[in-house]
Amino acid sequence: MTFSELGLSPEILSAITDLGYTAPTPIQEKAIPVILSKDHDLVALAQTGTGKTAAFGLPILGQLDFQLRGIQALILAPTRELCMQITKDLEKFGAHLKGFKVTAIYGGASMEGQIKQLHRLPQVVVGTPGRTLDMIRRGALKVEVIRWLVLDEADEMLKMGFQEDMDAILAATPATRQTLLFSATMPQEIVGMTKRYMKSPEEIS
Ligand code: AMP
Repeated sequence: MTFSELGLSPEILSAITDLGYTAPTPIQEKAIPVILSKDHDLVALAQTGTGKTAAFGLPILGQLDFQLRGIQALILAPTRELCMQITKDLEKFGAHLKGFKVTAIYGGASMEGQIKQLHRLPQVVVGTPGRTLDMIRRGALKVEVIRWLVLDEADEMLKMGFQEDMDAILAATPATRQTLLFSATMPQEIVGMTKRYMKSPEEIS
């Protein structure tokens, strides 16, 4: 399989060439068609280092609608460091998309600077669950029309006690969203989450 056979857009294919990726990793080969077809949610058993950021980032960015205002994709991740890493990767994947903006929001940094970033109308927000919920409750982050919700390292987010925050965030997002869950392990709590939140999920590993 090549990236172009997977059906990614020309701007995304240019970014992949810039990055020097020659072929999709196994998780990318399986996840990208599911995300492009929009028919199913996705549960992916995947460790760090497998190329999972590109597995969700490339197809989401390629489908952004630049005529729309407002956040189209919300990505939740357990730590500030991971949020920053994902944001950096997405900036590279979106380098050829005119007007593309992504913002990271996480605890331990001032709300004000992050609220200012949100006012710039990014299409994609990457956040830790606590700060994300805080921003939603303050009205600074509007998630009523998002099209994709990604839960990255879902098992880590549960271990860190973010279950209630994640439940509240999910409740604030539209039922029409596509939900993509990535986790290195599949404990019972994750299986429970997939049952509560996801529609006929495709499972890959
Ligand atoms: P991740 O699992 O998302 O943390 O990615 C691990 C590393 O693999 C990152 O440095 C990516 O830039 C790199 N990577 C992702 N996809 C590919 C690919 N198809 N070919 C080569 N490297 C890749």
